[in-house]
Amino acid sequence: MTFSQMWDELQPIGRDPGTGGYRRYAWTPVDATLREWFTGAAEARGLEVVLDRAGNQWAWWGNPDETPGVVLGSHLDSVPDGGAFDGPLGVVSAFAALDGLPARPSTPIGIVNFADEEGARFGVACTGSRLLTGALRPEAALALRDGDGTALGEVIGVGPEHVGRDEQTLRRIGAFVELHVEQGRALVDTGDAVGIGASIWPHGRWRVELPGEANHAGTTALADRRDPMLALAALVQQVRASAQRHDALATCGKVAVSPNAVNAVPSSVTAWVDARGADEARVRAVLAEIEAAVVAAGGRLVEESWTGSTPFTPSLSRELQAILGPVPVLPTGAGHDAGVLATAGVPSAMLFVRNPTGVSHSPAEHAEESDCLAGVAALTAVLAGLL
Ligand SMILES: [Zn+2]
Repeated sequence: MTFSQMWDELQPIGRDPGTGGYRRYAWTPVDATLREWFTGAAEARGLEVVLDRAGNQWAWWGNPDETPGVVLGSHLDSVPDGGAFDGPLGVVSAFAALDGLPARPSTPIGIVNFADEEGARFGVACTGSRLLTGALRPEAALALRDGDGTALGEVIGVGPEHVGRDEQTLRRIGAFVELHVEQGRALVDTGDAVGIGASIWPHGRWRVELPGEANHAGTTALADRRDPMLALAALVQQVRASAQRHDALATCGKVAVSPNAVNAVPSSVTAWVDARGADEARVRAVLAEIEAAVVAAGGRLVEESWTGSTPFTPSLSRELQAILGPVPVLPTGAGHDAGVLATAGVPSAMLFVRNPTGVSHSPAEHAEESDCLAGVAALTAVLAGLL
């Protein structure tokens, strides 16, 4: 089955007909369909599919307990109304790269589908890879709840006593190469279809709680209101201004209003801030300003996750450069499972496929088919070179 045929099979799964975006949330019926697709693609190639202690799917050729394997892959979940490429491009390209080998080698090959990379359902990004490496404690993961109150422990598909860092799986990974659609725009300017990842910017997520006082919208004088919506408006402006001042990126992209009624002054607003930058100091400077403003407005700011600057494994990135020749080496503002693995000491590297507009986490996310095929060719060369 060709790259395009696999791509066409995945296209309709989890796509919202209204927005055209993808809603592929971890451990939902849509995710189960994606996992079945992964298993089918693996078994059609004679690979053995196993689940690790973090709910990630691994498809193996050969015996990685004898010799660690070369692992390709990415994730199949999406952000709300995400694009088609973020994640699936790496998984489909992995199968296509395996197909592109002239013969199956004696060295084991793995293809992975990491669980809940986007954190769209439980709020923590890279849940699968962080659990695998122990960066996320099992007790903390099992206690996570989605918007409906369902605990992660109820859906992960691994008994709670088995969830956690998975030494056996980690030992099986000789090297991990994640191919991913470019997020942000650089390759269109250099004229290259494929680039190599250098490092991931430090980034984090914060929850902002803005208390207020519920009251009637028709009978409460303006002077008597404690309206947290005003603090939210100030917060949104502050996030933008602080990011600009420190040459970083910060976003307020998610808000929960209680009780969320047209004719009621809200009792509380919870907002989430995502911030990233080229170095930790500037991200911390942005957050310090935001926190000061939040506290002055009577609210509080809670750090939900933080990931420091993450270089991919330099020796492995150099091997990719030697195999692929002169291609651009790019930093990225997006977090990835390859970054989590690299931080844990697992040799990991990334390839990026040109995104002509740079738009990602949106239905408009795109890569030309010819560039995707160039990505597959690069990944095939890397796989063959590392075996
Ligand atoms: Zn991704």
